[in-house]
Amino acid sequence: MANIGFIGLGNMGGPMLGNLIKAGHRVSAFDLAAPAREAARTAGATLAENAIGAAKGAEIVITVLPAGHHVRAVLIEGGVFDAATKGTLFIDCSTIDVDTARACNKAAAERGHELLDAPVSGGTAGAAAGTLTFMVGGSTAAFERAEPILKTMGKAVIHAGPAGNGQAAKICNNMILGITMIGVSEALTLAKRLGLDAATLHAISSKSSGSCWALNEYCPAPGPVPKAPSNRDYQPGFTALMMLKDLKLALGAAQGTDTAVPLGAAAESLYALYCGAGHGTRDFSGIIQMIEGKT
Ligand code: NAD
Repeated sequence: MANIGFIGLGNMGGPMLGNLIKAGHRVSAFDLAAPAREAARTAGATLAENAIGAAKGAEIVITVLPAGHHVRAVLIEGGVFDAATKGTLFIDCSTIDVDTARACNKAAAERGHELLDAPVSGGTAGAAAGTLTFMVGGSTAAFERAEPILKTMGKAVIHAGPAGNGQAAKICNNMILGITMIGVSEALTLAKRLGLDAATLHAISSKSSGSCWALNEYCPAPGPVPKAPSNRDYQPGFTALMMLKDLKLALGAAQGTDTAVPLGAAAESLYALYCGAGHGTRDFSGIIQMIEGKT
């Protein structure tokens, strides 16, 4: 069993830590927020006084932080890389920009460590159930070292290539999801106005060329998919603010690589409007209500 440092014990990190402890690992944990620390202590972690304390003596350090500047602030500027034992494996499961992920990988290597970017898909439910998908960027050797640990928190652990490719996979995947959720919402709204109900369109399109995850598994109209947030007044799930964050990361990456993403840009604008109207904490599939003209 491994000695693991865990920094960032929020909605995702908290339940991920719980699964590491259930698997028998020793976890030293830190978060800036006292309630998050207390939940980790209750789950069986040892609390550290700060991020450096969580990383000291650990073979593996996992970070699950909000954005790239937090990851930099903790690992590089906060002195965690400097304080960690040489050869520590860092696994950053935050969703952050590709450039920061690559810069952190380089900074880790300069201090004799390895770092993987390993963002996740599956949301808080997947974090609690240990069924996350990890998309991992970094060296093959580091990936092989991390794989058994990540498998205690996820059902799929996929090596996406060198440093930054995990984040590239995450933002490209979520750009597909943002665009398809809006497309499905438009089609369901049009169908309704043509006298075709959501259940019938779902039954047909989920077996036709319109088939996609946003329709089949996460239908934004209530009814066809009982487990979807549309049946619980769009309680998240995955919030519209999180989708907006990921679309902004995709647009930033598109700018940096001279890539035209007109539909990604339109999706980002529509989610900005939806969040700006006060719906950021609702599930991202609630955008159908804006398309229907209800919000
Ligand atoms: P969260 O805000 O619930 O948790 C982040 C935690 O980091 C907070 O508890 C905060 O106190 C802590 N933190 C911030 N700065 C810190 C610092 N300097 N030192 C120690 N702790 C610090 O966010 P979350 O929902 O857990 O998301 C974490 C990451 O996972 C994000 O990058 C997000 O985009 C990604 N993600 C979230 C979901 C989801 O459904 N929530 C799904 C996939 C990916």
